[in-house]
Amino acid sequence: MKKYIVLFAVLAFVTEISAQQNYFNPTVKVKEYLEPAIPHPDQDKEMKDKMSKLKKKPNILIILIDDMGYGDIGVYGGGVAIGAPTPNMDKLAHEGLQLTSTYAQPTCTPSRAAIMTGRIPARSGLTRPTLTGENPKVNPWASENTTAKILSQNGYKSAISGKWHLGESKGSLPNEVGYDEWLGFGSVQSEYAQFVNEWIYPDLINKPERLAAIKKMVDQNILTGKKGGENKIVQPISNIEELSKVDQVFANYSEDFIRRSVKENKPFYLIHSFSKVHNDNYVSEGYKGKSPAAIPYKDAIVEVDDIVGRLMKLLQDLKIDENTLVFLTSDNGPNEDVWPDGGYTPFRGGKGTTWEGGVRVPGIAYWKGMIAPGRISDGLFDICDMFNTSLSAAGVVDKIPSSNYIDGVDQLSFFLSDKGVSNRNAVFMYSETKFMAIRWQEYKVHMNVFNTSATRRNLDQSTIQSIGMSPWVYNIYADPKEQLSQGHRYFEWGIPGVMGLIAAHLATYQKYPMKDIGLKKPGAE
Ligand code: CA
Repeated sequence: MKKYIVLFAVLAFVTEISAQQNYFNPTVKVKEYLEPAIPHPDQDKEMKDKMSKLKKKPNILIILIDDMGYGDIGVYGGGVAIGAPTPNMDKLAHEGLQLTSTYAQPTCTPSRAAIMTGRIPARSGLTRPTLTGENPKVNPWASENTTAKILSQNGYKSAISGKWHLGESKGSLPNEVGYDEWLGFGSVQSEYAQFVNEWIYPDLINKPERLAAIKKMVDQNILTGKKGGENKIVQPISNIEELSKVDQVFANYSEDFIRRSVKENKPFYLIHSFSKVHNDNYVSEGYKGKSPAAIPYKDAIVEVDDIVGRLMKLLQDLKIDENTLVFLTSDNGPNEDVWPDGGYTPFRGGKGTTWEGGVRVPGIAYWKGMIAPGRISDGLFDICDMFNTSLSAAGVVDKIPSSNYIDGVDQLSFFLSDKGVSNRNAVFMYSETKFMAIRWQEYKVHMNVFNTSATRRNLDQSTIQSIGMSPWVYNIYADPKEQLSQGHRYFEWGIPGVMGLIAAHLATYQKYPMKDIGLKKPGAE
């Protein structure tokens, strides 16, 4: 009898699945609070077989570069061709899985929040970058769970090295939101640069009273701290020379953290979070003029690439490269507003917008012996997927608390299966709390658009426009620069299905609402 009850339950489940599935939405909802994913039983089995052969829990290293463009790395069309060779990042891609459809958020803070919480920033409230001395009125972290927190509760040693930029008030720094330890700075490169470069910021620096007042608003130090302890000053960032060295300080700390974890025989979770190549770029000793382009941004790319090479060499030297999942990405598209101190994208728009140039970023997954070398895929990947994927690699994906909706999808089988495809059906794009666009298969469909008619003023002089009756639709294969909307002309067949995906996505806010932490701009609608 019991057997039959189980059989009926399974049949009911399967029937429900098939009723839910259609061409536009082949996903399956497993739990109320988890984003539905596309089931791939064969590749799941291949992934599980590979994982079962591991002798130890794997390490996870996320390399996060700030504001680097999709086109800056050689294998993405940059490198030598644009005056800044990237041999180490190219090697990582050649020996791993190069993703061509990785999506970040349009700016720093939201992207970082998404990677760490697995959630669309509208849900965590971290919807835009915090500015000089600004701290959210409500601590978003009080009701968020970071990957670091969950892994640290499950035998991992967790750390972040480098840029934070997710709030600096009490309860908001890394060692207070789940990281076992960290070394870095609370804010962003440009915030420290504005106090030290009088050529760029004369109206601040050459007015002593103003400078003194604004300096009081920002902690200009590299800090370090451990969970449960106070943060201590490692060194100040009080001049260009000190600012130019920060990425070397962060690299040294990452190397030390990895070595200590291996010595303690503990699996680690580390986010190596570069300060570069966010403006204003000042390279450390030996890098000035090192790139063929010999301009600061390009020299900074060369320095970043060297550090990636150093970290990878350390994994080899310590013989842990076969036990470490590495994922390299950028937190948003290049900042075109700060030219020539910004990166390159072949796509429309840049940082700050939801055109492809703002949100489509490099994504390279590497795991020696586990991810087949030389793979390249245009499968959809949202950087918030690194939340689920990291937990899955650590074998604790079932430890995700049910209190929050998780927008991330577990992509471990996409990574590990030799012919793996993405488990994600669509990517949803926002500007702050406003829904903007969706990427589904090779189509990008905008419901609201960024008007960037002022050239290279994506952040400083753009507006958001509503569309007319027809959504703006681009076939990203045929029109990767999103130049000629073809909504009702060629995509009539797809609009109802895609609108259904958006409606289902927006419906999740009924049970799991957006969180307002006070980052809404005064005067804005
Ligand atoms: Ca950024």
